[in-house]
Amino acid sequence: MDHFPIFLATKDQHIVLSGGGDAALAKLRLLLKTAARISVFSAFPAPEIEAWAAQGKLRLQRRPLSHGDTLCATLFYAADEDPAEDARTAAIARAEGALVNIVDNLEDSAFITPAIVDRDPVTVAIGTEGAAPVLARAIKADLEERLPTSLGTLARIGKSFRKMADALPFGRARRDFWRAYYFDTGPKAMLEGEDHLAPALEGLLRQHLHKISRPGHVAFVGGGPGDPELLTLKARRALDEADVVIYDRLISPEILELARREALMIDVGKEGFGPSTDQDDINALLVQHALDGAQIVRLKSGDATVFGRLDEEIDAISLHGIDWHIVPGITSASAAVAAIGQSLTRRGRNASVRFLTGHDMKGFADHDWAALARTGEVAAIYMGKRSARFVQGRLIMHGADRMTPVTVIENASRPNQRVLQTTLNHMAKDIEQADMSGPALTFYGLAPRAAALAANTLQLEEMA
Ligand code: SAH
Repeated sequence: MDHFPIFLATKDQHIVLSGGGDAALAKLRLLLKTAARISVFSAFPAPEIEAWAAQGKLRLQRRPLSHGDTLCATLFYAADEDPAEDARTAAIARAEGALVNIVDNLEDSAFITPAIVDRDPVTVAIGTEGAAPVLARAIKADLEERLPTSLGTLARIGKSFRKMADALPFGRARRDFWRAYYFDTGPKAMLEGEDHLAPALEGLLRQHLHKISRPGHVAFVGGGPGDPELLTLKARRALDEADVVIYDRLISPEILELARREALMIDVGKEGFGPSTDQDDINALLVQHALDGAQIVRLKSGDATVFGRLDEEIDAISLHGIDWHIVPGITSASAAVAAIGQSLTRRGRNASVRFLTGHDMKGFADHDWAALARTGEVAAIYMGKRSARFVQGRLIMHGADRMTPVTVIENASRPNQRVLQTTLNHMAKDIEQADMSGPALTFYGLAPRAAALAANTLQLEEMA
């Protein structure tokens, strides 16, 4: 780097230029944007220079530069486009202590003027040390196109807010605020007009101050069985206010749509036996974002307290003293039983209902099969597709009636909901044949109420 780029303060400085033609005009157009005092020496100044002088924008001396004219000048431009005259004026200025630039003479210049993209107070200076002016022009054109003309206004108004924004703690909080201003709130407010900018900035600052006054928090939110209308109002509000949403595979896109637009959405989808985000990684994500002060929604399908590995996550964040609460949701058993028009409990039939999982972390889950095999028992079996044969075998082995009704509800509450009616005797084969790819809940001991079997539900033939 032969030339070191710096930005020179121009307020109360004196800049002198010798010349009155095109080269002089080009430099003066730039110099007039500064706060410096400008003097021009030319026996034959261009009319524009005359006009600027008349408007008081510069001081014009209609004569060649001579000794004493550049005393106390910070910069001097030799712009006569005449090598002999340029050498003469440059020598004077140099002797009088100014930094000298001779137009189109890099060799004898003490400094060069870069190509400038001007979004005052944002300025981009481009220099190639004379190697490739074409390149400098191309870069300038590219930047001119890319940087919105409103950038200057944004920066100017932003600058006037710097003191106020210092109320935010140094570091991430302040950075987040300015990022939101320059890349989101600011440009949007500018579309409505420049006078919308200051109020938008005030609102944004209030919002960010409020945010930092709250420590990180995790809301464990039950997202329900899939139908967005089965979300609770509390779940909606939590989604609306979340900075970070960490969600499972079974959460439907319509529900994710309801999250705050700026929220960071993290998919930690777990598939029964398929690839998954490690539970430790999920715990670590919760801790990391909460310690950063984020309001987190940990969105789980159905109700977060039912087969949701909730306790492991609560334990992990509690170790770090992070606050949390649970927003209950509609568990899939509730949605599934509604789909078949039944009750989970019924006077005279079953006074209790079991929520079972078909498999747990160690494989197929074991249960009190003998108790379940008694007549009138009802169980809602979660994650029961792959374990259907195992469950069926255990129950029959413990003496359950083979004709006990079994109903499988796939995609409960969703537009593609299907109902499969079968019996204990055929459940494994029927489930396999139905080729269900969506989440399915199996009811042991419940048949659909006859009237609830709508036209679009699937009913497999009983095969005795
Ligand atoms: N916490 C969830 C259950 C998570 S375990 C809840 O309360 O519902 C995942 C199992 O839930 C799936 O294997 C399936 O058995 C059941 N499930 C989730 N959503 C379902 C839906 N829309 N229809 C039927 N079963 C569903």
